[in-house]
Amino acid sequence: MGWFVDFKCPYCRYEEIGLGVGRGQHPFPFLALFSCANCKSIGSTWVDENKVPRCGACYHEGVTLLADDVRRVDCPKCGEPAIITRGEGVWE
Ligand SMILES: [Zn+2]
Ligand SMILES: [Zn+2]
Repeated sequence: MGWFVDFKCPYCRYEEIGLGVGRGQHPFPFLALFSCANCKSIGSTWVDENKVPRCGACYHEGVTLLADDVRRVDCPKCGEPAIITRGEGVWE
């Protein structure tokens, strides 16, 4: 089961709303939050066993995966601390 999160940077106003994270009935693949240093974005991407996760925006390999329960993360655009909040609803 998964849920949705909102990323909001109060400094530069960069935001990503309704990113899906979590997993279904199987351990892989699962949806994880990532921070991409290449295109400076936050998103969620499918992580599969024995595969390198890619940025959902620019397909760059080697993104930084964030923990499911992360609440604070440095904004990839401005470097200031930004906030991740849990949104409404769940998915299966
Ligand atoms: Zn920012
Ligand atoms: Zn990217």
